[in-house]
Amino acid sequence: MTNEKIDYHAIRERVVRKVSQAMSAKRFQHSLGVEKATRTLAKLNGADIEQAGLAGLVHDYAKERSDEEFVAMIHEKHLDSDLLNWNNNVWHGVVGRFFVEAELGITDPAILQAIERHTTGDAKMSLLDKLLYVGDYIEENRVFPGVDEARALAQVDLDLAVSFETEQTLCYLISQHKSIYPKTLATYNAYVAHFKEDL
Ligand code: GDP
Ligand code: FE
Ligand code: FE
Repeated sequence: MTNEKIDYHAIRERVVRKVSQAMSAKRFQHSLGVEKATRTLAKLNGADIEQAGLAGLVHDYAKERSDEEFVAMIHEKHLDSDLLNWNNNVWHGVVGRFFVEAELGITDPAILQAIERHTTGDAKMSLLDKLLYVGDYIEENRVFPGVDEARALAQVDLDLAVSFETEQTLCYLISQHKSIYPKTLATYNAYVAHFKEDL
């Protein structure tokens, strides 16, 4: 059984049921939209389509859990106590990956990492991290200013799409006077700013 390739397709039916039971109909539609988007982006970028689709399907699995459940998981997994200062926006990915692992039985570290990073990005993202980060942003149900440009960029260059999304998200958060999670800033420095040249 060692090194056997996981049959993502075979487990989809069970996972779809659990994901749909964990969230509103609207968020479930979003999850199916992200599954579709990550599969398409995987095809375009020569990545594993089934793995990318599964990551898309489950990425927001924990989004409707209570704050108390996230706090309990932060303690249980001995995660950085700074996480306690944040909220659902950050927790549902960074902490949500542990709910996906425990309750959906998904153990693929690449999928769990992509879920962890799907909201904030990371200074150094894997191909799968980028597929989910961008797929979440451009899926067909999304309606917001800039989404068409993001979709067009994603067809041409995944890194450009990461860059565009990161800048848009940061500008939006600042315009709303929201706190910026340090990882979000690290993503900005890595994929948007040319800070090394500008120093
Ligand atoms: P969704 O779960 O499909 O709605 O999308 P995301 O997981 O990408 O984002 C969830 C929310 O987190 C959005 O409202 C983002 O604007 C917000 N968000 C992303 N980065 C940050 C951050 O650094 N700080 C804060 N406060 N919110 C963030
Ligand atoms: Fe999310
Ligand atoms: Fe999402």
